[in-house]
Amino acid sequence: MSVWIRLQQSLQPLESFVARHPRGLMGSLLGLLGGFAVTAFGIAPLVPGNAALPQQQVVQALGAPELEQQLEALAEHPLGLLRHDQTRSGDSVDSLLTRLGAFDASFAAFLRADPTSRQLLQGRTGKRVSLEASPEGRVQRLVARFPVGVPELAATHFNRMVIERGDDGRFASRVELGRYETQMRLASGEIRSSLFAATDEANVPDGIATQLADMFGGDIDFHRELRKGDRFSLVFESMTADGEPVAWGEGRLMAAEFVNGGRAHQAIWFQDTDTRKGGYYGFDGQSKRRSFLASPMEFSRVSSGFAMRFHPLLQSWRQHKGIDYSAPTGTPVRNVGDGVVDFAGRQNGYGNVVIVRHAGGKETLYAHLSRIDVRKGQRVDQGARIGAVGATGWATGPHLHFEFRVAGVHKDPRQLARASEAVKLPQGAFKPFLAKVDEAKTKLQVAATLDVGVTGLH
Ligand SMILES: [Zn+2]
Repeated sequence: MSVWIRLQQSLQPLESFVARHPRGLMGSLLGLLGGFAVTAFGIAPLVPGNAALPQQQVVQALGAPELEQQLEALAEHPLGLLRHDQTRSGDSVDSLLTRLGAFDASFAAFLRADPTSRQLLQGRTGKRVSLEASPEGRVQRLVARFPVGVPELAATHFNRMVIERGDDGRFASRVELGRYETQMRLASGEIRSSLFAATDEANVPDGIATQLADMFGGDIDFHRELRKGDRFSLVFESMTADGEPVAWGEGRLMAAEFVNGGRAHQAIWFQDTDTRKGGYYGFDGQSKRRSFLASPMEFSRVSSGFAMRFHPLLQSWRQHKGIDYSAPTGTPVRNVGDGVVDFAGRQNGYGNVVIVRHAGGKETLYAHLSRIDVRKGQRVDQGARIGAVGATGWATGPHLHFEFRVAGVHKDPRQLARASEAVKLPQGAFKPFLAKVDEAKTKLQVAATLDVGVTGLH
C-alpha cells in the first residue's frame, strides 16, 4: 500500500466533516489538521505488516475513527485561527503580531506593559510562537516555547510562556517549565547530488547529517568517496516540545546504514552502563573511532558542495604524492590523528604547510593553507583544527593538498584510516550490545522501506 493512499485515507474523514460543517472557520481548521496529519505522517513510517517492532518506535498512524472524534470535539469549541511563527531579530510587538495576523490593541498593550510577556521579544530570537485568535484577530491565547537559560535544565526542559485571556476579558501571563520528549524517527535516502540534498529531501536535520558523516568518518571520506546512488537508512532521536520538533535542540543519531559504492557500513550508538561512556560501534562490536579519520576536511554544508563532482581522479596519488580536496578558502582543515606538530610555516611549493607526527613513524601533511592555527611542538588531538584551506604556494586555486608518509615514504592517504586499528567493545558489554544491534537492524529495515519522496513531504 502506498503512503499516498494512506495519507488520502486519513484525510477522508476530514473532507466529509468539512462537507457537513461548511463554516468559515473550516479554512483554519483544515490548515491546523492538515499540518497535524502530515506531521504525524512524517514520524509514521510504513510498517510492512510487522508486529515485532520495538515498543518505543513511533508507528502510530492517524486512525480514521480518532480523527473523526477529534474533529467533532474541535467543532464544540469556538476555535479561531491558530497561527505559528518565530520571533526574529529586530521584532517589535507590532511586527510579530502583524505576522501572526492578530489585530488586537489590548493584547499589544498588554505585551508591552507586562514584565513576563516582555521576555518574548528580549534575549534570544527564534522563539516559537503559537497564537490563537478569532477570525477577526481578537487574541485568545499565545504560547511561546524557547530554551531554558539554566545549564542544568537546558538538556531536558524548555520554557513555555502562556498568555491567556481570562473570562473577565483581561490577560494573564506565566512561564512554566516543560519537559522535552524524544521521538524516534526513521528516514532513508539516496545520494543524487550531495549528502545534504539527500538529507534535506528525507527531512533529516543538518545536525543528524553531520553526525552521520562523523559516525562513518573512519570508513568513508565523505568529500571524495560519495557516489551517486549511495543510500542511507537512519534511526535518530528528535527532541519535541509539546509535540513540535524544536530547531535549537539536537537529537542523537542512534543507528545508521550507509551503502557507499556498493559496500554497506552499519553502526549504532551504544552507551556502556558501567562507564556511562557512549560511542558509535559497528554491528561487530568494533568502535567506529579509529586512530585516523578518513578526511582532513570537516564535513559541513559548505565543504560538502565541493565534494560531489563525481569526476574521476585525474592524477594518481603516486605521481602527486598526495590527494587534493577542493574547497573554498577558509574551510576548516582538521588533524586526522593524535600527534605532535612537527612543522608549521612556509615551504616553497607547499605554501603555508603543517606537518603532524603520529605514533609509529607516521606523518600527515596539510598544504596551501590560508591560515595556520598551530605551532611547532604543539600536541594536537584527532579532529583539532590546524588551519584553513587556501591557495598559498604552487596552487592554481583554493584546495587542500594532503599527504601521508610512513618512515618518510609516501603512502596512499586513502588507506590511512582503514588501516588504523579500532577499539573493541569491553567483553562484559557484549550481551546488551547485541540486543541493541538486533533492535537497530529491525528499525533500519523499516527505515529502508520509506519512500524518499514521501518522507520529504512538508
Ligand atoms: Zn596536491
